[in-house]
Amino acid sequence: TAKEKGRNLCCVYEDQMNEHITEKIYMTNNIRKALSNDEFELYYQPQVCLKTNKIVGVEALIRWNHPEEGIISPGKFIPIAENSGLIIPIGEMVLEKALTQLQLWRKQGYSQLRMSVNIAAEHFNQSHFANTVQTMLENARVPAKQLELELTENSLLKNTGLTTNTLHTLRRMGVHLSIDDFGIGYSSLSYLRHFPLTTLKIDKSFMNHINEKEKDRALISSIIHLAGSLGMRVIAEGVETKETFQFLQQEKCDEMQGFYFSKPMPAADIEKLLKNYYF
Ligand code: C2E
Ligand code: MG
Ligand code: MG
Ligand code: MG
Repeated sequence: TAKEKGRNLCCVYEDQMNEHITEKIYMTNNIRKALSNDEFELYYQPQVCLKTNKIVGVEALIRWNHPEEGIISPGKFIPIAENSGLIIPIGEMVLEKALTQLQLWRKQGYSQLRMSVNIAAEHFNQSHFANTVQTMLENARVPAKQLELELTENSLLKNTGLTTNTLHTLRRMGVHLSIDDFGIGYSSLSYLRHFPLTTLKIDKSFMNHINEKEKDRALISSIIHLAGSLGMRVIAEGVETKETFQFLQQEKCDEMQGFYFSKPMPAADIEKLLKNYYF
């Protein structure tokens, strides 16, 4: 009967929910263990100047070297880390590893290389966030102007006094602040208006269909001009094709990153690229 069917559906739903919750708890525990076992590694993706075709920066992207499952991408565990508070220790570990690596590269002669680090909203909105960054920069002996923090709409959404203060403090220190995934949010323009951001990263969903999609071309070039007239640096992310690369060059986009130049790679592989392509 319909009633029985209803109950069955309900049971199935409950089972799935329990499974879902169990899975989450399981993952949370695993992430915690992974932190103490140092199973996280940073990969780096070059950011290339479109005028010189040289590497001017790298973005740190976290990977989980799971002992049984191999490399797990951030999409699979960052959301769970965000919901469980573990994103704070993860974020601090990422900052520390990224700055330590940057200092190593500076000593190898890549003295002006820039390091971009993704920061989750919950981490950014901690009241002492700017202080923590300051301390980490001092410990690593890296100049603040070589660090760029990539924020998303979520970090800026609340637009509280705290958000604004943190952004201004970081800017006064010299840290670069970028808005990641620009163009897919709801009110991106108001962020540009309210906050002292230095850099705009055009979301990858606009790239790679520029041949078929006139609108994508129009949007990309408008965003580039918008950034230019606001005095912001503009980076295109997710660039996979020669056509897109050349289009961005022609439109005078400042920098690009994407598979067309290089995938994110471990530090040792990035060093091989730096040898030939550092600016
Ligand atoms: P994101 O910051 O927007 O990073 C760009 C993503 O696009 C990366 O995925 C990168 O590997 C990928 N990508 C780069 N070039 C191309 C390309 O040409 N084509 C395509 N299709 N994709 C490309 P990844 O490494 O899986 O990271 C996904 C997201 O996870 C990041 O998006 C970022 O939001 C988050 N994430 C990564 N590392 C961290 C971290 O250390 N902390 C935090 N809080 N979030 C992180
Ligand atoms: Mg990013
Ligand atoms: Mg992005
Ligand atoms: Mg993204």
